[in-house]
Amino acid sequence: MGIKANCMFEEPTFYDIAELRRHRQERLAGAFRILNHFGFNDCVGGHITVRDPERRDHFWVNPIGISFGEMRVSDLQLVNGQGDILKGNLPVNQEALEVHLQIHQARPDVVSAIHVHSLHGKEWSELGKYVSPLTKDCCAFYQDHGLCNLLAGTNKDCDVVATALKQYKAVILRNQGFMTVGYSVDEAVSWFIAMDRACKAQLLAEAEGNENIMNERKAVNMHSQFGTAHEGWLNFQPLWYKLIEEEPDVLH
Ligand SMILES: [Zn+2]
Repeated sequence: MGIKANCMFEEPTFYDIAELRRHRQERLAGAFRILNHFGFNDCVGGHITVRDPERRDHFWVNPIGISFGEMRVSDLQLVNGQGDILKGNLPVNQEALEVHLQIHQARPDVVSAIHVHSLHGKEWSELGKYVSPLTKDCCAFYQDHGLCNLLAGTNKDCDVVATALKQYKAVILRNQGFMTVGYSVDEAVSWFIAMDRACKAQLLAEAEGNENIMNERKAVNMHSQFGTAHEGWLNFQPLWYKLIEEEPDVLH
């Protein structure tokens, strides 16, 4: 076995490239189902990419037409850096994929990128503002997310999203919600869930007229505790183990 450690608290290390690929595919298929459980199923919209561990300019992505709640490993499509489908016979959202490809190209460290139109994300993104340090979830993004002031339907210049993302873990897209990225699918999913909660918290706080944000020292401290890549990875694990127990067909 190429897996050095694989418990709930320690990230696995792979020595076999095929096993790492399979691991990423399983987590990718599972990510759709978990996002679906959180209500982040946007009909035929929404996409997650994961980088192939061998051909690092190739990516696994969901096809159009399969609902998040029914995604399986065998449904995933392999595309190259130009968006050509190399494995799979279903269409992919080429316009959306282009944004993902630009991000993966600009950020070689990013293994996975997610963009789904979540309700709170869309609502918050209309305001064109950063998320403030109000809660633990918000602090994971303190000085760690970008803002892309594109208007919906005008994102032809995909590189502006990658430019706005910079070295951060998330970027708010004006009127379109947000994207999150990670060194693993696990991490990117956790940040997606956390960012939606952060947007929700801020919407509620502003509706109540609550301007009680943390001071910078506390926000930085909270970010260093709850905003690390390992923290993101860790938060995914209970969701993953529950999923494969209840829906083992995701691995098919
Ligand atoms: Zn969008």
